[in-house]
Amino acid sequence: MLSSEEINNLISKSTSARENAFAPRSDHKIGACVLMSDGSYFEGCNIEGIISGLGVCAERAAIDHAVLHGKYEIKAICTVDAEHLFPCGVCLQYLFEFLQINNEEITVIASDVKGDYKMKPLMELLPNGYLTKNPHNLENFSRYKSK
Ligand SMILES: [Zn+2]
Repeated sequence: MLSSEEINNLISKSTSARENAFAPRSDHKIGACVLMSDGSYFEGCNIEGIISGLGVCAERAAIDHAVLHGKYEIKAICTVDAEHLFPCGVCLQYLFEFLQINNEEITVIASDVKGDYKMKPLMELLPNGYLTKNPHNLENFSRYKSK
């Protein structure tokens, strides 16, 4: 369960990150932010590339930003766009990788630029995402739990 302060922080940090989006082709700027289980926040923005598949979504940029800082347990993710926009399928599956660390639900928030938002659990947005069943891999995921 997210507090109203956490929701407000996620939306304001995503909105700031959106300003730095690199979108010379589409001019479609998106900002994102993840809230980790320890209360830290990491922002991301979309980055476009000329080669198909080269660019990255704001959501994955935010997750990568958290990983860079040694944070893996995601409590919530927020995206800010002109209209409410939930993460794409690729980003939802990417979130599933991190869900397997502690198997706690990840809340997904889609906010517009005015701060009006919609909120859904990851499992509702991608009910049949790929999860590993390999016991060795499952053991490996536990290494990324915060100490
Ligand atoms: Zn995406």
